[in-house]
Amino acid sequence: MRIAVIGGGILGASVGWHLAQGGARVTVFHAAAPGATEGSFAWINASLGNDPAYRRLRVASMAAWPGLAAAAPGTGFQACGGLMWDAPEAELRAYVAEAENYPLRLVGAAEAQGLEPALRHPPALAVHAAGEGMAEPVAAAAALRRGLEVVRSEVTLVEAKGRAALRVAGAVRSFDAVVLAAGAASAALLAPLGMALSMHAPLGMLAWSRPVARRLNGLVMMPDMHIRQTDEGRIVLGEDYGGTDPGMDPEEKGRALLALASQRLHGPTLVFNHVTLAGRPTPGDGRPAVGALAMPGLWLALSHSGVTLAPAIGAMLATEMLTGARDPLLDPYAPDRLVQLT
Ligand SMILES: Cc1cc2nc3c(=O)[nH]c(=O)nc-3n(C[C@H](O)[C@H](O)[C@H](O)COP(=O)(O)OP(=O)(O)OC[C@H]3O[C@@H](n4cnc5c(N)ncnc54)[C@H](O)[C@@H]3O)c2cc1C
Repeated sequence: MRIAVIGGGILGASVGWHLAQGGARVTVFHAAAPGATEGSFAWINASLGNDPAYRRLRVASMAAWPGLAAAAPGTGFQACGGLMWDAPEAELRAYVAEAENYPLRLVGAAEAQGLEPALRHPPALAVHAAGEGMAEPVAAAAALRRGLEVVRSEVTLVEAKGRAALRVAGAVRSFDAVVLAAGAASAALLAPLGMALSMHAPLGMLAWSRPVARRLNGLVMMPDMHIRQTDEGRIVLGEDYGGTDPGMDPEEKGRALLALASQRLHGPTLVFNHVTLAGRPTPGDGRPAVGALAMPGLWLALSHSGVTLAPAIGAMLATEMLTGARDPLLDPYAPDRLVQLT
């Protein structure tokens, strides 16, 4: 089976990798423009605010991360755990009391300090989520694309002989199937085919420091700042994991965020390196859109939290495409609920 994947970000790369594992010949068409994967905080979680079905999908994907990381070396995946206190005390207590299949425990100041010795002001009460983790999304997508044919071209979707096909550098190329994993560009690519996809891509900014000696052991979610340290030692943060509103001067805002982080952590002052600004590809109702579209041979993989969900979405969509079996965890997330035929 010859399959084209449009987009080589973390979702396209994971779908492509899993399809190749299943025996397909995969070509990834990956435009040069950076996407959400290049600007992601990359917190792997099923934290507060997820309905039960969505939490199950996220937990399944978290469970799949270690195996994927072992099979595709270089993802930067770490099951490092997360320490959070960005909710009122009653909410933190209820979160821990109601958690199912998700290891959480309340910790006091001494334990929080033990987990993250660099904190200048450890919280009186926090939740430690031992199963949460992080990856390095750019490295992870590259690790998953390794071994696939990658064409560094921008493509468009067309219909050829009643099936989805691609236009690449002026020529139409046909495949047995096409996966649209183009993140924020997905709706624009579908529009010429008469499909109006409901989605948006809110901008989020993150600030990145120059690399420093190991300062954080895991993810730290404070009330006004979500922060982690990358595997090359950079401190990366936003006002929350989804990024900060960049305002009129993103660099100034990034510098201010890092200055605040320096006040919160022991150790030398953090030196600003750069900011990233990326749209978070988000289906219209906030839940993933994964599966077949209303044109033969055309499939969609679109979600926010794509770093968390890449292992599950990649594996489940590949299985469905190659065998016809849809994973029940994907049942609520058929794309047609968000697509109007025009
Ligand atoms: C600030 C921020 C913080 C985030 N934090 C988290 C987090 O903590 N945890 C988490 O799980 N997720 C997080 N996310 C979300 C996550 O990063 C995304 O869901 C994920 O990266 C989406 O991956 P993707 O492959 O779908 O899209 P993208 O990474 O955007 O990749 C799509 C690719 O398609 C390419 N493309 C587009 N059009 C074409 C075309 N016509 N032809 C060829 N190629 C094309 C683009 O160049 C792009 O590289 C965050 C995102 C942002 C922006």
